[in-house]
Amino acid sequence: MPLVLEPTPLHRLPRVSKDLGIDLWIKRDDLTGFAFGGNKGRKLEYLIPEALTQGADVVVTCGAAQSNFVRQLGAACAVAGLRCVAVCMHTPHDHSVGPSPQANPKGGGNLMLDEILGVEVRIVPDGSWDELFAATEDCAVVLERTGQRVYRIPIGGSSALGAYAFRQAAAEIPTDPPFDWLLFSSSSGSTQVGLCHGFRGLSTQVLGILADPEPQIGEDFAALSESLAHLTGDPPLAFGDFLLNLDFVGPGYGIPSPAGTDAIRYLARMEGVFLDPIYTAKAFAGLVALARAGEIGGRVLFWHTGGLPALLAFPVNEGS
Ligand SMILES: *Cc1c(COP(=O)(O)O)cnc(C)c1O
Repeated sequence: MPLVLEPTPLHRLPRVSKDLGIDLWIKRDDLTGFAFGGNKGRKLEYLIPEALTQGADVVVTCGAAQSNFVRQLGAACAVAGLRCVAVCMHTPHDHSVGPSPQANPKGGGNLMLDEILGVEVRIVPDGSWDELFAATEDCAVVLERTGQRVYRIPIGGSSALGAYAFRQAAAEIPTDPPFDWLLFSSSSGSTQVGLCHGFRGLSTQVLGILADPEPQIGEDFAALSESLAHLTGDPPLAFGDFLLNLDFVGPGYGIPSPAGTDAIRYLARMEGVFLDPIYTAKAFAGLVALARAGEIGGRVLFWHTGGLPALLAFPVNEGS
């Protein structure tokens, strides 16, 4: 189902290139032309047709209250004439890391857009990701008991089909000459798994800057690669095949970081391009730090994964 205006723009960032001493390009998935942009539109082009094929009445997913996925899913469900239910926590967290002491905003940004789109957002009390997944399954079961056909979508749209979308998206990047590095924000995994499959065989190093403080996340990525491999016949990738950087998560998932906030101002003031506080700001902060440290260099591509409505929901001037 075509939702995204493909290919999204790809252009050079001349002032940041000069400042960092690299040749930096940006892939503008913030400009998909679909529902305020973002990387989830591509996944939904494959997920929504599957929901329709299965005869679904309602799509059920989960996320943080400022989920970019829920917003883009809401828009895709509108296009398809499907009901959309999202079970959300304001700040879900990992068991090993514990809850965040920082309170997040309760409304605005993506939540406002969800309401306009008619998404049924069910806010549950903050807890762990596992508690969020359990509450989502309960919700799906209750809907099924009322006779609804439910199509379940995992967090962030990270199923094999979601990863397949990014395997295809890799073909939008010219390979002659190949980029030395590809950096982007990574979280539920289908962006990274798909891109790693799509860039296989090229010399490009595909590096995900994580938005979640979970060192074991690569295991989930390997499992997702396995299911993508079933779909495509590609050889699956293992945990160790994924380049992951955990150094820029900051205070935790869903909470802006001081370095990210600096990166938002830096890119806006250098190039007039906005980042979001939860994903792309942290990834771009990583790019800047790694370039300044000489750990990455040459021809570098930053894949902008969107998220801009969240910028309007979080105060950026806090603590700076
Ligand atoms: C969801 C999201 C990501 C992470 O993509 P995954 O495929 O879930 O790893 C990165 N950036 C933004 C803005 C997002 O909304």
